Amino acid sequence: MKYYLLFGPPGAGKGTQAKLMVEKYNFHHVSTGDLLRKEIAAETELGKIAKQLIDNGNFVDDSIVVQMIKNEIADNPDVAGFIFDGFPRTLPQAEILDKMLAEKNQEVNKVLSIVIPDEMVFERILHRASIENRKDDTDRSIIQTRIDLYHNKTMPLIEYYSAQGKYQEICGIGTVEEIFQKISENL
Ligand code: ADP
Repeated sequence: MKYYLLFGPPGAGKGTQAKLMVEKYNFHHVSTGDLLRKEIAAETELGKIAKQLIDNGNFVDDSIVVQMIKNEIADNPDVAGFIFDGFPRTLPQAEILDKMLAEKNQEVNKVLSIVIPDEMVFERILHRASIENRKDDTDRSIIQTRIDLYHNKTMPLIEYYSAQGKYQEICGIGTVEEIFQKISENL
């Protein structure tokens, strides 16, 4: 079983690229953001807790997302691999993931990070807000909170995975096809 992680700031195009990877390689795409939005839409207890946090651009608790990831792995034993998009987002999440996989004699194979400048993050997210109805996409200060969290909490993971020799950056500027080509070369 292969495990790939997609990194990148909000709006970098992780979801778009993950879909192409699913079509080409028969991987299972797990977006913790999408899973949380499903819980919110279904108005579950978890969804109620998550909504407040997500709408304000904050992270959901590590324990909640870790449990969602465990369920996804357990529920999909027959896939060729997993693409985690939006997970791990904090150092504790990364450490728990490593431990979880080590118990199955497995490991993260590669971390692909789609890199775009912060100015482009605003541009893309505000554009997405007019298409998808995400409250966390509509307000500049909420977007800034998400960018800051990405820098403060998620970027330390670059060090973590670089030290393991698994970290690879991909320039996220270009057409969807160009970026997918670069990702494919790195799988
Ligand atoms: P984006 O990458 O565009 O900001 P996502 O759809 O990946 O958006 O995530 C939306 C929101 O869901 C995040 O801002 C955060 O509140 C929550 N979330 C998603 N994944 C995690 C995670 N691994 N840990 C904590 N919170 C998460």
